[in-house]
Amino acid sequence: MVGFYILIAILAFLFMEFVAWFTHKYIMHGPMWGWHKDHHIPHNKTLEKNDRFVFIFALPGAVLIILGVMYTLDYVLAAGIGIALYGLAYFLFHDVLVHQRIKLFKGTKNKILKATVTAHFDHHRPHSNQNFGFLIAPWKYYKQEFSKK
Ligand SMILES: [Zn+2]
Ligand SMILES: [Zn+2]
Repeated sequence: MVGFYILIAILAFLFMEFVAWFTHKYIMHGPMWGWHKDHHIPHNKTLEKNDRFVFIFALPGAVLIILGVMYTLDYVLAAGIGIALYGLAYFLFHDVLVHQRIKLFKGTKNKILKATVTAHFDHHRPHSNQNFGFLIAPWKYYKQEFSKK
């Protein structure tokens, strides 16, 4: 039975990569560009307007965890935990590893992570209009990275 809840958490986690991709492509680079824009402009401020999205993206996980606990709905709690873990992974990948906003670890030798980082840097090139996903990059980046000697 525990396996079932872990599966739900993993599916919720993966679903969030889709949600993040969709939101990034169609909302943040769309009607909400005003909040996301300063993430695409080099600066030395501590916080970006883009950080406001944290409060929105943290909501679904938090709400599901609270409801799951209040009504002892374990599958709702599992989904909430999966979503919250996505938020943590997203933060560690995007804000710490890629953009080094907190110097926790400097770079990586892991080829899968390196390829995913490269893909996000390509998203940051002017007029790039590609790679809106975060933890999963287009296949060509992994192929490229693994063919390097
Ligand atoms: Zn962007
Ligand atoms: Zn970025």
